[in-house]
Amino acid sequence: MNFRDYYDTSAFSPDLLRMMDLINDLGERNFAPRAGIHDRDASFPMENYNDLRDHGFLKLVVPKEFGGLGFSVGEYATIASEIAKYCGSTALTFNMHISAMLWSRYMFDMPTLSDADRAAFKPMREKQFARVVRDGAVYSQPISEGGQNWTSKPIQTKAELTDGGWVINGFKKFASLAGNCDYYCILCTEHRPGEEPTHADTMMFAVHKDTPGVTVTGTWDPVGMRGTVSRDLVLKDVRVTAADLMMPRGVFAKTLPHWPHMMALLSPAYMGVAQAAYDYTVAYLRGDVAAGGIDRRVYPTKRASVAKMFQKLTEMRSTWHRAMMEAQAMPTQAQVMRLYAGQFAAMEGAPDMAALAIRTCGGQSMLKSLPLERLYRDARCGALMLPYTSEIMEDYLSILTVYDPEEIDSIPGDNISARTSLWRGESGTRGAAR
Ligand SMILES: Cc1cc2nc3c(=O)[nH]c(=O)nc-3n(C[C@H](O)[C@H](O)[C@H](O)COP(=O)(O)OP(=O)(O)OC[C@H]3O[C@@H](n4cnc5c(N)ncnc54)[C@H](O)[C@@H]3O)c2cc1C
Repeated sequence: MNFRDYYDTSAFSPDLLRMMDLINDLGERNFAPRAGIHDRDASFPMENYNDLRDHGFLKLVVPKEFGGLGFSVGEYATIASEIAKYCGSTALTFNMHISAMLWSRYMFDMPTLSDADRAAFKPMREKQFARVVRDGAVYSQPISEGGQNWTSKPIQTKAELTDGGWVINGFKKFASLAGNCDYYCILCTEHRPGEEPTHADTMMFAVHKDTPGVTVTGTWDPVGMRGTVSRDLVLKDVRVTAADLMMPRGVFAKTLPHWPHMMALLSPAYMGVAQAAYDYTVAYLRGDVAAGGIDRRVYPTKRASVAKMFQKLTEMRSTWHRAMMEAQAMPTQAQVMRLYAGQFAAMEGAPDMAALAIRTCGGQSMLKSLPLERLYRDARCGALMLPYTSEIMEDYLSILTVYDPEEIDSIPGDNISARTSLWRGESGTRGAAR
């Protein structure tokens, strides 16, 4: 389907329409033919990144005053879900790069920052923007450390003050773009002798991929999203200085809790995969694609099934897209709840759609020579992406439907749930580790 068939584009700017057409053209010509190869080999789609760079997509959300295209969070999500129609792995990894830029852009404007924070932040963000605009640099965001919600307690990767800078030691699990980006955004916690570190000690450094002590390890042979090449990253005595800081110490904890949409930006990849599963099913039933070019539309059972897919996809997109388009700092509770519902709709809906697609098309559609089984495997990965996994979205919605934000920290019952990233109204989520 052309995006004009599922969006009301009257609200899209001419610039957004231009980039939407461009990405669909690139996707159809280049990304789609490469997707199967990178999936088979679990290799990184570097050529797609060259295309993205050549056509300005790397600077999509960099503010215009710094040479970027200045697209909003919602506009970015709209474009990213189009990428995923052709290659889920490219869309998923692209999010890591874009999120790094979004954080630099939007955290700077937060009212929770002091003047001193902002003055220190200014040159740091400008440096990152310049690397992307001028040099076409690619950033990754390896935050996960394995086995826990990274918002539950301070990041385990340690930064210790030393002469002229810090030494970082730690481990990152699932580092998408590992070995294929220019800079890793390394989130770590500053440890000071005799003090118990908290979220307020979170620091973020841009670490060049060739910095001594940075090693990509482990094998990569997962069920889906194989082109993300999300191997492990080991940081052993990595030396950084203030010149590598992406934001001043403490700013991360002061801002992210008030920008919950920033934690939902893996969802465009799965929304696009769901759309691709639907598009393929329609083409397949019409006999327009492989498997003999048989017209399968004549079967009422298949028509009923694809109608169900359309219904589900429309519900998913409406909930998800509305949430994305209203992304902003300091959202209202209603916006946050729509966000959680939208994230859940995309992440749970994608595997449902891919499973329905295979059921609807039939036996031959699951052959590895066709893209549906890749979409099926890619779609499966969405629900487990922290910090907003499907389980966590259900948990957060369950809380916000029946409790007021100020009651959250005294809810009786379990005390290990990942509720640190749960929005808590004006108080944000700071100091709320349970
Ligand atoms: C293809 C792919 C690419 C990825 N790329 C990146 C990347 O570039 N950067 C990055 O940072 N991460 C990335 N991730 C990691 C991802 O976001 C998750 O962190 C990871 O999948 C979690 O797996 P786990 O086995 O470490 O944790 P799990 O053991 O799966 O733990 C998480 C599960 O337990 C639940 N859970 C966890 N903590 C709590 C709690 N305190 N209370 C209640 N429930 C809880 C959650 O609901 C979740 O389902 C990627 C993952 C995949 C699959």
